[in-house]
Amino acid sequence: MIKYDLHSHTTHSDGRLTVEELLHRAVDKNIDVFAITDHDTVAAIKPAQQFIKAENLPLSLITGTEVSTKWESFEIHIVGLNIDIDNIDLTSLLSAQQQKREERALEIGVRLAKNGFDGIYEQAKELAKDAQITRAHFARALIERGVAKNFPGVFKKYLGRGKTGYVPSCWCTMQTAIEAIHAAGGVAVLAHPSSYQMSNKWLRKLLVEFKSVGGDAMEVAQPQQAPSERQFLGELSREYELLCSQGSDFHFPTSYLELGKNLYLPKDCQGVWQAWEGQEGALL
Ligand code: AMP
Ligand code: MN
Ligand code: MN
Ligand code: MN
Repeated sequence: MIKYDLHSHTTHSDGRLTVEELLHRAVDKNIDVFAITDHDTVAAIKPAQQFIKAENLPLSLITGTEVSTKWESFEIHIVGLNIDIDNIDLTSLLSAQQQKREERALEIGVRLAKNGFDGIYEQAKELAKDAQITRAHFARALIERGVAKNFPGVFKKYLGRGKTGYVPSCWCTMQTAIEAIHAAGGVAVLAHPSSYQMSNKWLRKLLVEFKSVGGDAMEVAQPQQAPSERQFLGELSREYELLCSQGSDFHFPTSYLELGKNLYLPKDCQGVWQAWEGQEGALL
């Protein structure tokens, strides 16, 4: 059985392992087909391809990125897989998103500074270095200051929707992201559908919209998920005629989440990899 993990992050966004560390870990976990999907960037991809070649690693890399989009009042993440990372439509969109990330980070910094967290932008930036700056960097900075113990706590208190440090996003639309992914020859995947804190009624509305603007697939399998939830997402994928993806959304090693862990699709689900199998240079 081929082992797929199609969602992960490196130090080019809010992951904490370098490209090299992440790839070694993926090999250690016996992953055969692996996608790196950093937030609004493809900066990890060329170094990853070079490293795989230089070290002759037994793993196939699927190019990827995770684009933040705005839909209604939600921030919806769309993963692009098997993309041409030099495609101009895609790289232009990612540059615009990167600028928005920087502007938003400054604004988050201003808001948090007004609430007693002087210099928090600089602290988050120091953690991000050259990476795309994310709320995860602010979360780490706030945790360093002892305001909360963990990510859920700090998002609940400061960074989540409607909280002091929350800046309503100006991300692109789902349609814009999907069009750029398609222009780059890729497949557009709705990321982690269960994580948007929306009712099933809204989730169905989201799937209708995602499908109508050209979405191809949805994530169905994640490591930490009740079997019933995976089953439900599998059923939704069939109902809305979307291919199914699976990914750990790995950011850093923890006791509870690992690359490739517990990733399989419910039966009768069509793997997203069907979209690129059979193409020239395909893996299988
Ligand atoms: P951003 O894309 O800048 O809005 O940052 C969101 C990132 O923060 C996500 O990709 C997660 O890696 C991380 N994160 C961790 N916990 C949470 C949470 N409870 N809510 C939202 N994001 C979280
Ligand atoms: Mn993240
Ligand atoms: Mn995401
Ligand atoms: Mn992710």
